[in-house]
Amino acid sequence: MKNTTILEYVPCNLCGSTDYKIMYQPTKKDYDPSEIFSASGGVMGTQQIVKCNHCGLVYVNPRVKNEIVVNAYSDAVDELYVSQAEGRQKTFNNGLKLVEKYVPQRGTILDVGCAAGFFLNVAKKAGWQTYGIEPSKWMSDWGNKKFNVNIKNGTLKDAKLQDEFFDVVTMWDVLEHTSDPMGELAEVNRILKKDGILIINFPNVGSKLARVAGGKWWFFLSVHLYHFSPRSMSMMLAKNDFEVIKFSRHYQTLSLEHLVKMVGLYSKGVSKLGLKVINGLSIEDWLIPYYASQANVIAKKK
Ligand SMILES: [Zn+2]
Repeated sequence: MKNTTILEYVPCNLCGSTDYKIMYQPTKKDYDPSEIFSASGGVMGTQQIVKCNHCGLVYVNPRVKNEIVVNAYSDAVDELYVSQAEGRQKTFNNGLKLVEKYVPQRGTILDVGCAAGFFLNVAKKAGWQTYGIEPSKWMSDWGNKKFNVNIKNGTLKDAKLQDEFFDVVTMWDVLEHTSDPMGELAEVNRILKKDGILIINFPNVGSKLARVAGGKWWFFLSVHLYHFSPRSMSMMLAKNDFEVIKFSRHYQTLSLEHLVKMVGLYSKGVSKLGLKVINGLSIEDWLIPYYASQANVIAKKK
């Protein structure tokens, strides 16, 4: 595929400037966008990553045209993602704990980019009135069938949700995938009640781990169009009438086997040996919480 026909240059989403410096050049030239844009897509090195000279936002530029990205997500079928259900369920238990620290009364909650609805299932069991938005038809159907959690297929803007309806909106592993995070946050602000809570997790490009890893940082995946730091995230939230309450570290949970396989992206030898050891000990299903430079932000609608 000729990438020149599918790429477009974009201005900084946060401040509108077109003045940037290149942080990392792409190392791969040819790829199929449909392989890249799925929930568990893990291709690296296809994109040029730049930093806005005006506000410091880190983003992909040029990037695959928005309609191609949206189509790829709509058509995505992701068996791998749902197969990791148990581990993700634990991550989402922790997510709900975080939500209920700020909103203990359990009202209406919307999960944007809810994938197969694992988080919503946890919230529903706890007594929340759940809603989800998910571009993948396959994921939406899977989640509605399995959990009956009210997932609408499509994008947040297309859903045209009611003004000031939600007590809480969550965006787990989502905002860095969207082509227009400013627009998404404006829309979230519109549908939240006054003083409503927004919780976002995001790979923190300003973290120590990210700085040490440099161009090999594991979140420089082709599915990520933006790389936020607490600083750029705060600016973006402020511009959309949110008040930041707190940043915290975000822990995920996956099986030991899956984590060791991920190590294989960096060192095949270490990963192979690790798999042998954990299989020998029959501990491959152990669920391990880990911190991989992701952050949570809790914000309140002004
Ligand atoms: Zn900027």
